Amino acid sequence: MVVDVISPYTVAVAQFDEAAERLGLSQSMRNVLRAPKRELIVNFPVRLDNGDVQMFTGYRVQHNINRGPAKGGIRFSPEVSLDEVRALAMWMTWKCAVVDIPFGGAKGGVICDPHQMSRGELERMSRRYATEISILMGPNSDIPAPDMNTNPQVMAWMMDTYSMHQGYSVPAAITGKPLAIGGSEGRLDATARGVQVVALAAMRHLDMSPESCSVVIQGFGNVGGITARLLHETGCKIVGLSDISGGIYNPQGIDVPMAMRFSREHGSLRGMPGTEPVTNRELLELPCDILIPAALENQLTKENADRVQARLVVEAANGPTTNEADRILNDNGVLIVPDILANAGGVTVSYFEWVQDLQHFFWSEKEINQRLETIMTRSFNAVLEKSINQETNLRMGAYLLAVSRVAEATELRGIYP
Ligand code: GLU
Repeated sequence: MVVDVISPYTVAVAQFDEAAERLGLSQSMRNVLRAPKRELIVNFPVRLDNGDVQMFTGYRVQHNINRGPAKGGIRFSPEVSLDEVRALAMWMTWKCAVVDIPFGGAKGGVICDPHQMSRGELERMSRRYATEISILMGPNSDIPAPDMNTNPQVMAWMMDTYSMHQGYSVPAAITGKPLAIGGSEGRLDATARGVQVVALAAMRHLDMSPESCSVVIQGFGNVGGITARLLHETGCKIVGLSDISGGIYNPQGIDVPMAMRFSREHGSLRGMPGTEPVTNRELLELPCDILIPAALENQLTKENADRVQARLVVEAANGPTTNEADRILNDNGVLIVPDILANAGGVTVSYFEWVQDLQHFFWSEKEINQRLETIMTRSFNAVLEKSINQETNLRMGAYLLAVSRVAEATELRGIYP
């Protein structure tokens, strides 16, 4: 079988180009906004538990910083590549602009398999990677956060490493930290909460009620797992779930709290009683009203898009839909809430965390969740309005809004010197 290798950066640039064309941006502006501003590649040694030294490769890419400091997560995965990090950095620029928070876009990653590493190895690798990218990091310049396979503990090690270099604590240099060292209430659930807000807004738009909706979610990590719990609490019937080991299906509805317990106890969802096993591929094609990809890029492709049965797709993952799949889904009348809007809740609460750290003044969870809901609802409505006015879909609506904001900032600041 020939498998197409789809470059996430090619997908990202094609989306940008379409928006730039519709906005009638000048060729000069297109050239500026297309290119990543900085790309740092680091190769660094880490001592393993057995005494050997292994070299790791990591990246930090800043796409654009015209609206504020660079912002974006760090992922640890064997699949990390410069192309992927570049795409994710560009998406961060648009994401921060869609929700109108004062950040530019960045992303980082290390090629590694964290599941095969001990805690000590993971700590030494995180600290050394933080040291290598500390030439870019800083509360006013570039503020990392968690992403795939990184968590509050990794952020704590990275914050500590950066602070050791400075000689004093700099909590605002990184977000997604544990509460005890300057993290924010609500940050762990924030991406999923944002997904929930836009999913409910999209359901209202389509005249669907949560109680009558069946939902399939791909991915059971920080985003997918918590989204499943929140939508289950809202009254939706969760009929399909998956993690890296595969998927589970029950058309009558899965008991999500039980699935969470089962996954904690057994290390995966596989074999959960009362469910039928499905592959990750089959999962995406299950009968349901709402499909939520919350795992990797390029999951909905031209091969499977025609078989998607959902009426609504909410992109909790970054870049889960290829451009061909996007066209097929749109032609089939599927409403897609695009990634740069749907999963912006995480970076929005990162913004709150950064603001709280800078002010040394902390808000309650209720306050955080209310502010998050306000921003996500306002952004959804702005994107919907833009897409209606411009007679286009939500993805292009979000891009038109985001790209025009970044272009305006770029125009106002002018070209140096
Ligand atoms: N990694 C998350 C994302 O893709 C959050 C980034 C952040 O909080 O800076 O949006």
